[in-house]
Amino acid sequence: MNSRSLFALILSLITLIALTAYVSRFLHRTPEELIDKTPLELDECGVTLTILYDNNPYDQRLGTAWGFSCLIALDTTTILFDTGGDGRLLTENMAKLGVDASDIQIIVLSHIHGDHTGGLDAVLEATSNNVTVYLPASFPSSFKRNVEGGGGRVVEVQQAIKVCDCAATTGVLGVGIEEQSLMVKTREGLVIVTGCAHPGVVNIVREAKELTGDEVQLVLGGFHLTSKSEKEITQIISEMKGLEVRKVAPCHCSGSTARRLFKESFGADYVEAGVGMILRIGSEM
Ligand SMILES: [Zn+2]
Ligand SMILES: [Zn+2]
Repeated sequence: MNSRSLFALILSLITLIALTAYVSRFLHRTPEELIDKTPLELDECGVTLTILYDNNPYDQRLGTAWGFSCLIALDTTTILFDTGGDGRLLTENMAKLGVDASDIQIIVLSHIHGDHTGGLDAVLEATSNNVTVYLPASFPSSFKRNVEGGGGRVVEVQQAIKVCDCAATTGVLGVGIEEQSLMVKTREGLVIVTGCAHPGVVNIVREAKELTGDEVQLVLGGFHLTSKSEKEITQIISEMKGLEVRKVAPCHCSGSTARRLFKESFGADYVEAGVGMILRIGSEM
């Protein structure tokens, strides 16, 4: 073999090795890597958050019951996140707060549990006919048919998607109990609203940051920490701080121990949350 053909042989061997490495790298990519990780582009909005339903008291005029619902009024769109457990109590609270159900254009349901979906029929009855309901795709088809029967348009959620210019769902997270949370981009940073946080509040915040590339101004809603020990809660608090969450408003299923520990740790950045609490973020008024 002359030196020229030896050189050609070595060159083709190197090419073959490189090609094999490239192909195997591509074949072994995990599904997550193959998903487009381009950040969700959201516009900045001013937002007014009103808790319409919660088991924690705040505005003494309103009734409390186990469950959660929060009205998210943006500059141009009004979103209802979850509907509490009882439609009658929800609509009573709305009336006392002067909330007009016909302003609601979008409803986002976090997960299938009755303390988040029980008030839906009453809201659909009170809203105009063109409300769009974003729910996890895994909801039973009977539930979806019921929404359509009540005049709602169903959007089945799996991946993160925008629900309007300033807000997006995280997509369905968690195994077992599938749940979505809502992300709203404000002039002060991202606001994340959670239902029960079954997938873990830290996981939700991490995912929201990854999806948007934004800093987190506030996390509000159920943190699902009633069964956790003080040690576990302290760990979760330090992970939230590690993710640079600026303010927290734990309510619903967060539990009194977690609420006390978050309050001690966040100080002035702890927001006391309960039914009837109204919070404005990034709005000019
Ligand atoms: Zn739940
Ligand atoms: Zn719940």
